[in-house]
Amino acid sequence: MRPVSYSRATDVDTAIGTVSADPESTFLAGGTTQVDLLRIYVEQPRRLVDINDLPLNRIEELPDGGLRLGGLARMSDVAEEPELVRRYPMVAEALLLGASPQLRNMATLAGNLMQRVRCTYFRDTEAACNKRAPGTGCSALDGINRGHAVLGTSEHCIATHPSDLAVALVALDAVVQTEGPGDARSIPIDDFFLLPGQTPEREHPLAHGELVTGIDLPPTPVAARSRYIKIRDRESYEFALASVAVAMSVDGGRISEVRLALGGVATKPWRARAAEQVLDGAPATTDSFRRAAEAELAPAVPHGMNAFKIELARRTIIRALEQMTQREGTT
Ligand SMILES: Cc1cc2nc3c(=O)[nH]c(=O)nc-3n(C[C@H](O)[C@H](O)[C@H](O)COP(=O)(O)OP(=O)(O)OC[C@H]3O[C@@H](n4cnc5c(N)ncnc54)[C@H](O)[C@@H]3O)c2cc1C
Ligand code: SF4
Repeated sequence: MRPVSYSRATDVDTAIGTVSADPESTFLAGGTTQVDLLRIYVEQPRRLVDINDLPLNRIEELPDGGLRLGGLARMSDVAEEPELVRRYPMVAEALLLGASPQLRNMATLAGNLMQRVRCTYFRDTEAACNKRAPGTGCSALDGINRGHAVLGTSEHCIATHPSDLAVALVALDAVVQTEGPGDARSIPIDDFFLLPGQTPEREHPLAHGELVTGIDLPPTPVAARSRYIKIRDRESYEFALASVAVAMSVDGGRISEVRLALGGVATKPWRARAAEQVLDGAPATTDSFRRAAEAELAPAVPHGMNAFKIELARRTIIRALEQMTQREGTT
């Protein structure tokens, strides 16, 4: 048993000051990831700073017409917010397709973005894992890797990024707001998630003690015509094998605007820019969708058991785009 001290911060400065002053301390939000990792000794902080009393759970209009989601807003509350459902349906759908109702009632948006990977070897302290113990190797490369990534991998780590919410946010070019211990920062969501490269232990550009205070959704009219599709081994309470966040408008049979991102297949929430390039201005047909999916997946690298994900992702992209064209309101 290792003792852990616990304190409850009531203001942002105290929370940041307490964590940044002690390298062995960490924030505790809903605890749905953090407590699991403590129990299995994957993370062993000496101090937990509970941030649930901080006033960061609101959803506010931004002057530019976007929405700011508080970092401590609960997944279930955000998914039910009428303005979010109306203007950014794919965000609401991604939230509702994640975890279970009980977990969503506790889990916060910032905690969701900061959650750790679900790789079995990461969670087994006896296994070699470069992410948990840098330099020890990657057991998944030649191990059980059915759920692992085919895009954005390196020879040091192939773990899939687990968040559904983050996939929708990447498609929308959301911006993560942070505070302390240095200046407040606005971090474009695509820069918030790092590829594993040679340093898989580093997942975010945050300093120790830097607090995620909010997530800004820019005004994006096309996002009102969007959806999130998630393919998984069972219909609820399961992480994605492949997922697609898509927003699209069609004008005169041609795609006038499209945003596409993938989950479940990459080491970070994956903006599908190669596919977007193929789709931009193309006829809204299955042939265009097929070419877009193939362009995006051309650099995919299989690792034994997860080879099926390339075909699965291809089909999921095509299905998502077909469903968008069939829905009223895409033209
Ligand atoms: C069984 C199960 C199934 C799940 N299924 C899914 C799924 O299908 N899809 C999905 O997307 N997720 C899924 N999840 C993950 C779940 O969504 C996350 O556990 C949850 O969102 C984490 O939020 P939390 O508030 O509980 O974070 P915590 O557990 O409290 O914290 C998680 C991490 O974030 C850090 N942190 C928290 N808040 C902040 C902040 N404001 N600033 C900086 N750092 C912070 C903590 O220090 C910690 O490192 C599942 C989880 C479980 C247990
Ligand atoms: S895939 Fe990443 S998290 Fe999993 S064992 Fe390899 S290094 Fe660790």
